[in-house]
Amino acid sequence: MGEIRFGPAGIPIDTPGEGTAAGIEYCRQIGLTAMEVEFVHGVNMKEEKARAAGEVAKKNSIKLSCHAPYYINCCAKERQKMHMSVSYIVSTAQAAFWLGASPIVIHTGFYMQRPAAECKKLVYETYKMCFDEMEKRKISGVVLGAELTGKKSAYGNLDEIIDLASHFGLKNLMPVIDYAHYHAREGRLGTKEDYLKILERMEKGLGSEAGKNFHCHFSGIEFTEAGERSHLPVSSGSPPFAPLAAAWKENGWSGTVICESPEIERDALLLQKEYAKVAKA
Ligand SMILES: [Zn+2]
Repeated sequence: MGEIRFGPAGIPIDTPGEGTAAGIEYCRQIGLTAMEVEFVHGVNMKEEKARAAGEVAKKNSIKLSCHAPYYINCCAKERQKMHMSVSYIVSTAQAAFWLGASPIVIHTGFYMQRPAAECKKLVYETYKMCFDEMEKRKISGVVLGAELTGKKSAYGNLDEIIDLASHFGLKNLMPVIDYAHYHAREGRLGTKEDYLKILERMEKGLGSEAGKNFHCHFSGIEFTEAGERSHLPVSSGSPPFAPLAAAWKENGWSGTVICESPEIERDALLLQKEYAKVAKA
């Protein structure tokens, strides 16, 4: 039976006080074991503060990860935008290194009406530049997490993120499945079998390692033909969580679940409870 950690996407809403360290302490207090530090609107954390928050996380046994800025495009049409994307990713990785956090979750980019194969070449190139720069800066132990994106116009469907992880190796780049995004863009999720199909595609592409230390996002979602519209509370049941918990149990998966519903910490607790119930059954 694998261990699965649960935590909020960002500082819990009801955190008494302010800041990342206070959020980490509050996670521990309410019984969560992970937290994603959000840099979605920019990386603005200084080294001293990041290292201090990392210490608080260690002391409270909270596993940290980060989310990189939204405005990254690893397959941008202009070279300059590709270089900017490298700089956003590397500065997120730098903050993660100080925090002791991994992975850093990234929305890879947008097709912008180009064939996926053309974008793939640029994506490979951009991520390669990130690894080179991280090595130069001696940033180690931080894995890049390519998220399964929610819109059909965005690079990063399940096959594409599995391909990226297989190209760079799981130790460098891991797929981050957002199950709500999958539900919105690739196919409706309802049963344990639906979820097992995803786990099996991961295992087929990446080996059993894929299920040993996964990182994923979960929430409810509202969507249109084009994919994701907005994230919903877990109680929406769209997609349902219990069958996913059962699939993880069946395949012995372990890792971390970050809850991106509007009720970040309350829903993370709900998922944790639901998982414990399924695991015990
Ligand atoms: Zn995301």
